[in-house]
Amino acid sequence: MRFDLDAMRAAPGKVFHVEGEEQLTTLNWRGEEVRVEGPVHAEASAFYVGSENQVVLTVHVRGRVHRACSRCLADVVENVDKEEELEVFPDEIQGKYLELRPFIEAGMRLGLSTKPLCRPDCQGICPYCGADLNREPHRPNCSRPRTARDPRLSVLATLLEEEKNKT
Ligand SMILES: [Zn+2]
Ligand SMILES: [Zn+2]
Repeated sequence: MRFDLDAMRAAPGKVFHVEGEEQLTTLNWRGEEVRVEGPVHAEASAFYVGSENQVVLTVHVRGRVHRACSRCLADVVENVDKEEELEVFPDEIQGKYLELRPFIEAGMRLGLSTKPLCRPDCQGICPYCGADLNREPHRPNCSRPRTARDPRLSVLATLLEEEKNKT
């Protein structure tokens, strides 16, 4: 997908529109390799501003990606739907076309959530014993710091304390 810069320069202010699908297999996002499922649907519009010698570009992307849950690493399918508006300077572009692929990729990256979750209340993996808390309790050797926030535990703690004081 691309815009013809000569045609745009010849008609300042006129809005050009393209729509189509772009095949992206993976996106690199902060070191995470994000797998893209199926084509990314993109709609773009642009017009040339003669006085500024710039193109105002709007790109709207929609696609599906696979992520790892930020708490338990389970596979998460995320729907990306993102619109971005940018200013592009044709003088900085080699050739006569404004290629949209880099903007489509950037739009997909911008649309990714920073902390994907398999479900809103994902319990995650215990950093102390490695148990997946969505499926299993802490392992017996878990060294997590114990807090007495659980009322049942605080009752137990009080009983133990009393027992200790007796002896
Ligand atoms: Zn999860
Ligand atoms: Zn644990």
